[in-house]
Amino acid sequence: CGIVGYVGPDVDGKALGVVMEGLARLEYRGYDSAGVALVSQDEVFTAKRAGKLANLTAALEGATVPTSRTAIGHTRWATHGGPTDANAHPHRGGPDGKLAVVHNGIIENFHALKNELIAEGVTFTSETDTEVSAHLLARAFAATGDLTEAMRDVVNRLEGAFTLLTVHADDADTVVAARRNSPLVVGVGEGENFLGSDVAAFIGYTKHAVELEQDQIVTITPQGYSIVGFDGTPAQGKDYEVTWDAAA
Ligand code: GLU
Repeated sequence: CGIVGYVGPDVDGKALGVVMEGLARLEYRGYDSAGVALVSQDEVFTAKRAGKLANLTAALEGATVPTSRTAIGHTRWATHGGPTDANAHPHRGGPDGKLAVVHNGIIENFHALKNELIAEGVTFTSETDTEVSAHLLARAFAATGDLTEAMRDVVNRLEGAFTLLTVHADDADTVVAARRNSPLVVGVGEGENFLGSDVAAFIGYTKHAVELEQDQIVTITPQGYSIVGFDGTPAQGKDYEVTWDAAA
């Protein structure tokens, strides 16, 4: 029920810290599981747990967490598949698991897409509607080599409501996100950029926000952001200054 994304400079632990703080600030939305994905040299690290954020924190403390500039995080309110570790997001795609996805909302036509993927030999590791998007994105990225193009290809096949964020180990300084009937805001920083389901996710870091309109895709890198419609037309988003202060 909450989503955070971050790309920034090579400061050890920063990407993970920003995302965990964002998830904590989005806790008020309610959730039953939480998880993060970090991009690091040629691979994507993920940690996810059912239950409170404290469970995720404990899992991270017990793990060898790689340094990373690029991270996404998620709090889940289960709609398809119970609140288990396996169903918690991120979900991975691709034979090498180099792509990760977090999703808020419901992919209404997941069943047909899942059957299609299973028929093509894809193995599923969760009961979520979300996981189809991870496999579809991995395939589209393999075909195009471009994460934004891959997102555009896939969102045009999805029905329902989604805020979808993806990262890929082979495009390490990028987070791509899409929005349909579900909220998504960009936080614009200096040498770093943020994504959130609302500004609470990044309010501790920047007050410059850009709200996406429906059916738009945004690509963030440390240097900037760019927006296109699901039809590929370049778009702007709505710029504004957040006027309230970060709550303690
Ligand atoms: N439908 C997805 C799931 O059940 C996402 C739920 C959410 O919005 O957190 O995993």
